[in-house]
Amino acid sequence: MIEFKIIKKSKKSKARLGILKTNNGFVETPCLVPVATQAVIKTLDSGEVKETKSQILIANTFHLHLRPGEDFIEKSGGLHKFMSWPAPLMTDSGGFQVFSLGFGRDHGVGKILKKRSGNEKVSLGQQPKLLKITSDGVFFRSFIDGKKIFLGPKESMGIQEKIGANIVFAFDECTSPVADYQYTKKSLERTHRWAKECFELKSISKKNQSLFGVIQGGRFKKLRIESAQYMAGLGFPGFGIGGEFGDNKGKMTEMLRWVIKNLPEEKPRHLLGVGYLKDIPEIIKQGVDLFDCNVPTHYARRGIAFIGSGKINLKDKRFLKDKEPLDKKCFCFVCQNYKKNYISHLFRAKEITALKLLSFHNLYFFNSFIEKIRNKIKEE
Ligand SMILES: [Zn+2]
Repeated sequence: MIEFKIIKKSKKSKARLGILKTNNGFVETPCLVPVATQAVIKTLDSGEVKETKSQILIANTFHLHLRPGEDFIEKSGGLHKFMSWPAPLMTDSGGFQVFSLGFGRDHGVGKILKKRSGNEKVSLGQQPKLLKITSDGVFFRSFIDGKKIFLGPKESMGIQEKIGANIVFAFDECTSPVADYQYTKKSLERTHRWAKECFELKSISKKNQSLFGVIQGGRFKKLRIESAQYMAGLGFPGFGIGGEFGDNKGKMTEMLRWVIKNLPEEKPRHLLGVGYLKDIPEIIKQGVDLFDCNVPTHYARRGIAFIGSGKINLKDKRFLKDKEPLDKKCFCFVCQNYKKNYISHLFRAKEITALKLLSFHNLYFFNSFIEKIRNKIKEE
């Protein structure tokens, strides 16, 4: 079980400093939760991830269910042991896949890829091409062997229990940013029913995990407030704030304002899936404690390094002449030992070490960035 303690509140914003205590150690919040979809931060081993100042990771229920399967992980001693990560862990509910493999895929809307025409919409009664969403749960097809898979509240909870993370999320439907009011309202009713079912299942479970309810409601103020109040009323020990906003980040800030006002002060709030580095100070100011983000590693594998002055693409041949570290002010292992010319060469030669070096630096950079924000809140 978790315990959350707020140790300082900013006088300038709704930001707060907290300590989240789990059976696998403490997390200082606000905190980035790197995404370990397949029980790994791509290109890095768990020891290296720890060296990037990462405190807690989130693994993906849907992917781990498909491969290697929750029974396999349970027999291997649970996720901490399986991936040799003794620190805190989370698993998501699989609800994001309802979006990413559903309407998100149909419309090319995602956390990072955006190629929308602007004409897409989702209306009541509509179903995505590859999934079937019913009142009991969602039928998926495995992208590994084509097998039909059903995920509902009971299935999601059962899988997450066997995987064994410290924090688990209630099953939800993450709705598309282009869903209309009627669709979102109906979907929210489902999400609430599923949350209640997950909450009841959790209350009879013997597993030492904390269940967070996930607030949805799309871009609609009325639904967001309703959802926050409903989840707060069920008495979860913490909350996930879900939803996809495509490229409309201003809307995300507004949504956080509606939601957080209606959540109990003393409980942790996790924003599910953050787009960019520049969004992070803003979401922390709104009172978000934890947030998962795959940007540092996703961009790294494409040659992009985040540095104090912005971001650079190491595939660019001008860096072959650059004998400086990625960021002179960065204390990470990569910046202490390697120069841009070498990393650029590795990318151009398609050497896999290139991906590792940038993933390490980017994660360290993000974690240091947030550490600075934490230090700032201490002074505010
Ligand atoms: Zn660095």
